[in-house]
Amino acid sequence: MQEEDFVQHLGQLTWGFGRVLVCVGDGKCRAIFTDGETRTLDLKTAGARLVPVARSEIVADSPLLRADWRSPRKTAAPKGLCAHCQKPLNRARYAAGRDWKSCPRCSTTHGSEHVFWPYPVEFGEIDARVTGKSPSGPQSHCNVCRRELNPPSRAGTLCSELASKGS
Ligand SMILES: [Zn+2]
Ligand SMILES: [Zn+2]
Repeated sequence: MQEEDFVQHLGQLTWGFGRVLVCVGDGKCRAIFTDGETRTLDLKTAGARLVPVARSEIVADSPLLRADWRSPRKTAAPKGLCAHCQKPLNRARYAAGRDWKSCPRCSTTHGSEHVFWPYPVEFGEIDARVTGKSPSGPQSHCNVCRRELNPPSRAGTLCSELASKGS
């Protein structure tokens, strides 16, 4: 087991494949696994259950093969869900007592988090007059998305940023 080797712990298959970050001696190495966790592997306790894995066995889009594989990251949120609140990106959300609203189009374009705009100014009068539950359809999009066929990607306020503002 050497630095950058691929390994698998046969007693812990749910970890996925691992890649050795660093060996600290005494048969111990730190490795990062496909599930995003970093673990210490001990050859003495794991023994034969710790097996080397050929690079060819790792799927091409595995996080272990990314250029930044050393930096642990959480498993990406399922496609179409916000990485912060886990709600669908194509759903408009309100925050901070309706002072903010997410644009489904901007959010889907962003791809991993809801993109919020001040509400109702960025959403126009039509939408401001809509009363009732979760609005859907074109009026739930921000002014720019409603106007432009190919809206530019704009830097709104992300779901996580809004949360850290302490809404
Ligand atoms: Zn969100
Ligand atoms: Zn938008």
